[in-house]
Amino acid sequence: MPELSGEFGELMSWADEIRRMKVRANAETPLDAETARKFGAEGVGLCRTEHMFFDAERIVSVRQMILAETTEERRAALAKLLPYQRSDFVELFRIMAGLPVTIRLLDPPLHEFLPKTDEEIDELAEALGADPGKLRHRALQLHEFNPMLGHRGCRLGISFPEIYEMQARAILEAAAEVSKELGETVIPEIMIPLVATRRELEILKGKIKAVADAIHDETGKEIEYLIGTMIELPRAALRAGDIAREAEFFSFGTNDLTQTTYGISRDDSGSFLEDYVNQGIYETDPFVSLDQEGVGELVQIAADRGRETREDIKLGICGEHGGDPASIDFCERVGLDYVSCSPYRVPIARLAAAQAALGLQRVSEA
Ligand code: PEP
Ligand code: MG
Repeated sequence: MPELSGEFGELMSWADEIRRMKVRANAETPLDAETARKFGAEGVGLCRTEHMFFDAERIVSVRQMILAETTEERRAALAKLLPYQRSDFVELFRIMAGLPVTIRLLDPPLHEFLPKTDEEIDELAEALGADPGKLRHRALQLHEFNPMLGHRGCRLGISFPEIYEMQARAILEAAAEVSKELGETVIPEIMIPLVATRRELEILKGKIKAVADAIHDETGKEIEYLIGTMIELPRAALRAGDIAREAEFFSFGTNDLTQTTYGISRDDSGSFLEDYVNQGIYETDPFVSLDQEGVGELVQIAADRGRETREDIKLGICGEHGGDPASIDFCERVGLDYVSCSPYRVPIARLAAAQAALGLQRVSEA
């Protein structure tokens, strides 16, 4: 790779000749994407779109979208967000210049978007010319005690399909624009989060197809895209054979899969986990290095069952483990097509993927 020069660059190019798995990066900002390319990422494995919604210019419309009581109100907020999202994706596709880009539709724990204080509600009401009492009531209705196990991911997309429809339109229009500029077809990979059942995916796929059909009617352009899902719930892993009927790719979200398999919060596990690891009760922190037994078995089951249904299903990992060498070795053994990690971990992942491929060769030669 020209960006990594000298001996380090040479080492990397040796690793690249050996490894089988591709290495992508988790990136949503232009800076992340540029850094990822500089370090040799071969695509974006996870663009978390919720991070794009916190921008100061957008947050009022985002809150309006979440707190809307009617579809019309929600559509009005989304109409303001569409141009922003489209330019986010145009920029990402331009930087990645034809490399694969997986964009995950919105997956916030809802509390991240809800106004938290009375002052925030009053400010929002003023900005929207809305009744603060009504907004407060709606925020209370949406409040959850366990937001990470609540109204997030595809559940949000099913309750408020307009949100995913706006994002799908932004992605497809951006892909068409950048395809024209590059003179080659950009095929976005649209990823649905937190799927537990095939039906969820089927419903949302239908919504995305309707958007693609509408764009076709408006412009005469047929835009290619892939649809896949995160596998990040034990049920999804176990039912992967069924889910693969609707998915062209799976990406293992091992952060949530670890959380839901162990029943340990990924956000506040520190209090006892460190003691557990120090005392050898757990071999490692399962959020840092993939638990190759329990969580790993679910990954293996999902990969096997997914491939049984769809032989050529594309398989990747985009949880934090995608940048951890021991976990990468495990991914090689499962036969994943790629790992995706934070941009700065891409060189480590390239080396680890090569080492994992060599390890496999040694075993098969023995
Ligand atoms: C995951 O759950 O592993 C994942 C990649 O998604 P997020 O961390 O955004 O929940
Ligand atoms: Mg997740």
